[in-house]
Amino acid sequence: MRVLDRVDRPVSAYDIAQLAAVEGARLCANQVYRTTARLIEKHQVRRVHTVNAYLASSATAELCMICEQCRCVEWKAMPLLVGALRELADARQIKFAPDSVEISGLCGTCREKSTAAASCA
Ligand SMILES: [Zn+2]
Repeated sequence: MRVLDRVDRPVSAYDIAQLAAVEGARLCANQVYRTTARLIEKHQVRRVHTVNAYLASSATAELCMICEQCRCVEWKAMPLLVGALRELADARQIKFAPDSVEISGLCGTCREKSTAAASCA
């Protein structure tokens, strides 16, 4: 799954298959899912649920902040946040086993671009 080492944004399983095909490796969707699942277990790949995509990352941080526009991702360690969510879920007997908590919005770069575009209009 060297394809993921060359991208800096989360990519979908379909994108992974397409990128692999460019390199001459034909992968079906099931192969991509099996491989990404194995790499997630090895902590070499993270799944970004918000965009249903994958990213090479050995980050162990719990909070994933993703830009809705450019899809850049930043990980942040937030053990207190996850602990609070776990307590809340436990109190309601909800099984809580997230590999990450995700928030989405606009990154600083995209926010500046949208502000500049708005001021030109
Ligand atoms: Zn952005």
